Amino acid sequence: MNPLENIRIVLVEPQSSGNIGSVCRVMMNMGITDLAIINPHDRHNWDEARRLSCHADTLLDARKTFQTLEEAIAECTIVAGTSARTGMYRDHAKMPRELAPIILDSAAHHKSALVFGREDTGLTNEELAICTHIINIPSSKIYQSLNLSHAVMVCCYELFLTAGSGDYHPPHERSTEATGEIRERLFKAWSHMMLETGFCKSDKLEHMMMGLRRIFNRGKLTENDTKILLGIAKQSSWVANELKNKRPR
Ligand code: SAH
Repeated sequence: MNPLENIRIVLVEPQSSGNIGSVCRVMMNMGITDLAIINPHDRHNWDEARRLSCHADTLLDARKTFQTLEEAIAECTIVAGTSARTGMYRDHAKMPRELAPIILDSAAHHKSALVFGREDTGLTNEELAICTHIINIPSSKIYQSLNLSHAVMVCCYELFLTAGSGDYHPPHERSTEATGEIRERLFKAWSHMMLETGFCKSDKLEHMMMGLRRIFNRGKLTENDTKILLGIAKQSSWVANELKNKRPR
């Protein structure tokens, strides 16, 4: 299948109706058609969005709406979040060009997502945590933050170029990759286990989990990998509880 058809563009709480329309236009220019909007506010001017989408109003009409990012990426394998900022929790960010072949390899067999943040505050740390990869578009230190639709354009352009280059050949899939829904179940089980075994206290849990997510997302997690990791967490939690119950009070 054409990997571009498996790529979902996710806009988290976009503020400007014009930006939504412009995003539809750049998506269609680059052969990407699946648009998801998280929690759109009720003051959007959809006529304005339609005007800026020009000939891509079909994408606007076909948009999907979700309450949370978790729901929008539940069926996605790779989830690449984008951020204008670098530093804390964003050290492993890569350029769109570097990630394009990795995203396309997944999208050849599964739905994959690119996630874009609010115009004023971007993505929260919790939202970035849900992402398997982070993309930073290199830009001038004087003004690093691009307009939302321009950021979508740069990312989609790199995917379009890589997909269309004669050098790109999608891989044969050997084992099924884990989706966002399976990954989130795994991370919940590991965070319970880390508390129940006393590996860390609740005030350090979020920070620890950011590190653990980064480690697990460094390679491709298959469904079988997640079964093993989920089993370890559940068994360890069970043993920790057994020990607690046996301890004299
Ligand atoms: N002030 C916000 C910028 C938001 S710009 C912040 O500090 O994060 C709106 C969205 O466009 C961002 O959330 C991101 O998805 C995308 N974006 C803008 N500039 C970008 C850049 N240089 N690299 C990657 N994404 C960028």
